[in-house]
Amino acid sequence: MNDLRKDPVSGRWVIITRDYLLKRPEGEIQTFHENQLKTCPFCPGHEAMTPNEIWRWANPDGSWSVRVIPNKFPLLRIEGSPDRRGEGLFDHIAGIGAHEIIVETPEHLPQYELEDGEQMFRVLSAYKIRLQDLKNDIRLRYGLIFKNVGGEAGAQLAHPHAQLIAMPVIPMNVKVELVNCKKYYELKERCLFCDIISEELDKGKRIFAETEYYVAWAPYASRFPFETWIIPKDHSSCFTCTEENSLKDLGALLHRVLMGLSRALESPPFNYVLHTRPFSLSPRYKQTTIDEDFHWHIEIMPRLTKIAGFEWGSGFYINPTQPEEAAHVLREAMI
Ligand SMILES: [Zn+2]
Ligand SMILES: [Zn+2]
Ligand SMILES: [Zn+2]
Repeated sequence: MNDLRKDPVSGRWVIITRDYLLKRPEGEIQTFHENQLKTCPFCPGHEAMTPNEIWRWANPDGSWSVRVIPNKFPLLRIEGSPDRRGEGLFDHIAGIGAHEIIVETPEHLPQYELEDGEQMFRVLSAYKIRLQDLKNDIRLRYGLIFKNVGGEAGAQLAHPHAQLIAMPVIPMNVKVELVNCKKYYELKERCLFCDIISEELDKGKRIFAETEYYVAWAPYASRFPFETWIIPKDHSSCFTCTEENSLKDLGALLHRVLMGLSRALESPPFNYVLHTRPFSLSPRYKQTTIDEDFHWHIEIMPRLTKIAGFEWGSGFYINPTQPEEAAHVLREAMI
C-alpha cells in the first residue's frame, strides 16, 4: 500500500508510491491514432479490459453513456484502516481511499470534438453520484474530481475521462481556501465567494458568461492565461446538493466554456478541478460555519505556460495574459 506522509514544514501531504510509475501504460498515447481503437480500455466492447464497473449511465438499448470504474493503477486503495500515527515528529496515514475513472463518453474522439451540454450533464451526474456514495465512508474526508486533457496536462489515455480521488485528509489547496473563507466570514459574516461574484457582476470586466444559475469569469489574480472559474450564483457549499435543473444548466455552460477555450486557443491542453466542501472535518472542528462560509466552484486551467524555478521557489505565478483581456477574448469566442 502507498503511504501518505505530511511534510511538517509546509503542511503538505505527499503520496509516496511504490509502483505507480512502473505500472503506467507507456508511449505517446494521449494523442489520437486510429490504431488505439483496438486497444483502448475505455471504448465500448472493451469493458472486460477494465476492473469491475462501479456505475453507469445506462441507455434503454443496453449501451452506456458514462461509465465509472476503479483505476487499474490506484494511488489510494479502498481496503484497510487509515492507521493514523506518528513516526517520530512526522505524521503518517496509510494510503487508503478511492481512485476512480469516469469514462465521459463511449466515443473515442478528442475532448473538444464531442461532448454537448446534455452529455456533460450526464457526466456531472456521475460526479455527484460517486461523491455522494464515497461520502458515506467515514474513513474518508475529501473527494476531489479532476480532469487532465492532453499530454502536457498529464493525460495518460486519450479517451475522454475524469478521475475521482477520495482521501483520508483534506488536500492543502482546499484547506487554504477553507481557512481564508472562514476568516472572511468571521470578520464580515458573509461568504467571500458570494462577495466576489457580486463585485464581478457589478463591474462586468472579467465575467464572460452568465446563465440562470452560474457565472464563468477570469479571476482577478488568475494564475494562468485564460484561467476560468465557474461558480453557482446562489450560495452553496456542496456540489452534491445541486439539483437536476441547475446541473443541466451547468452542463450546458461547461460545454460552452470548453468550446470557447478551444476556439480562442486552438484546443489547448487543460486541467479542471472541482472544489466542494469536505465530506467531514477533523473532530477538532466541532463548531463550524463551513456551510455558510465555503462556496463550491470549478477551476479550469489551460496549460499554456510552464512552471519554473521562480514559481517553485516563491509560490508566485507569472501570467502573461491580463484576465480582463482573456475575458474579452472568451466572450467573443463563446456561442
Ligand atoms: Zn477509447
Ligand atoms: Zn457563497
Ligand atoms: Zn478552489
